[in-house]
Amino acid sequence: MFKSLEGKTAIVTGASKGIGRGIATRLGEAGLNVLVVSRTIADAESVAAEIGPRAQAFAADVTSPDDCAAMAEAAVNRYGGIDILCANAGIFPSAKLGEMTAQDFEHVIRTNLTGTFNCVSAVLPAMKGKRAGRIVITSSITGPITGFAGWSHYGASKAGQLGFMRSAAIELAPWNITVNAVMPGNIWTEGLEGLGKDYVTAMEASIPMKRLGTVSDIANAVLFFSSEEAGYVTGQTLVIDGGQVLPETLAAMG
Ligand code: NAP
Repeated sequence: MFKSLEGKTAIVTGASKGIGRGIATRLGEAGLNVLVVSRTIADAESVAAEIGPRAQAFAADVTSPDDCAAMAEAAVNRYGGIDILCANAGIFPSAKLGEMTAQDFEHVIRTNLTGTFNCVSAVLPAMKGKRAGRIVITSSITGPITGFAGWSHYGASKAGQLGFMRSAAIELAPWNITVNAVMPGNIWTEGLEGLGKDYVTAMEASIPMKRLGTVSDIANAVLFFSSEEAGYVTGQTLVIDGGQVLPETLAAMG
């Protein structure tokens, strides 16, 4: 159905675990070269080894513009260019207002929102040089659509990513670079597992499909936004949540 992406090059941040690992694996299966990025090089190396010889691990902290520039340089040196950026790295620590410090707030914004800006800025010279590119941001339903006590900073960062995306999509359209976002609901990942069993049980009950999502559910949507066929789609979002945002109340599920 879709033209092959074989031989194209993708950078996936936060690819050592969870959703990023799922995206990197899916793109690897589709025959892409994948730069597997996280701060912990050993974790990134084991994911790159799982994907195979087309994948390479790279250690970068997305809060550092220098690290992001080095990440882009590594992809260009190894693969000759960058076709796709999956700006996925993110954190979701919980803190209620009154306890949350300015440092807590800034840490989440710096990682999730400024980190997205840093990664996009770093890949632009390579993408503009080719006059082509696909940028896929991992946002969330939390912030753009829903709220959750303890995640005001996180929600602000995830809604902020979408504001960033819309203006970036306009600016980059003349270069044939698209910028879109996936908005996952609750996806089974190492990070989510850390929120505890009670959280997971409550979430499953509030999802019409009665299950958490898988990393493949998100990776398939990323693959679509990365495809040649999605070339006229930019500044758009796709919610992948098993219907979680639909019910007005638990009673609405019947
Ligand atoms: P996860 O399992 O905790 O994995 C996070 C990944 O990001 C790891 O590879 C981690 O590796 C990396 N990372 C964290 N901080 C980083 C930094 N400063 N620089 C570079 N890499 C960094 O998280 P996840 O659940 O897969 O979430 C991934 C993305 O999906 C996030 O943007 C999150 O907001 C979004 N999301 C998740 C869900 C969900 O239900 N899981 C729902 C909606 C949205 P290192 O620690 O080694 O750097």
